[in-house]
Amino acid sequence: MKRKRVKKRIKSKKRKNKRNFLYIILLILLTLILILFWVRLVSPTEIDDVTPGISCPEIEIYNPDILYVIPNFENNPISENAEWCDYISSLNKTLRMHGIKHTYKEFLYNELSQEELDYGISEFEKCFGFVPNSFKSPQLETFYENKQLIKENNLKFMSIFNQITHKVYHCDDSTFPYNKVINLF
Ligand SMILES: [Zn+2]
Repeated sequence: MKRKRVKKRIKSKKRKNKRNFLYIILLILLTLILILFWVRLVSPTEIDDVTPGISCPEIEIYNPDILYVIPNFENNPISENAEWCDYISSLNKTLRMHGIKHTYKEFLYNELSQEELDYGISEFEKCFGFVPNSFKSPQLETFYENKQLIKENNLKFMSIFNQITHKVYHCDDSTFPYNKVINLF
């Protein structure tokens, strides 16, 4: 009789421990989400896919701090659109480079040459009057050698970590999670 009671007590203690362990895990998760929410709230906001060929009312709607510019999207070299360059410059935002042509996974599927990268940088420079200091790959995916090339050209490489720790909007609301969600979280 006594033995049975002891067994029962042990069983219930085990159950309690399991429940406490779950609560702790849940609490840690919740804390991490709250920290991430706070980090994203106070970090500078960004917008990707800024280029003359993509409409971008989001620049006015969300007023992001950092603009990621595509130098030549679908044969629209930015340097040939002086009006657009002036408009973007007049916004007084931080401007950075986002791919060269921004084809699908451009920096993952093609091994890029120094000439191609030079071309992208020079398009940026002709448009805004300075060379970019940071770079983000289309779809955030990059072939190892391409990443090395970017770094050798004194471009700070922006990774997925940057994308997670900042609110990053997209022109034309083209990418999941969509801008409204980004705005909330
Ligand atoms: Zn993009």
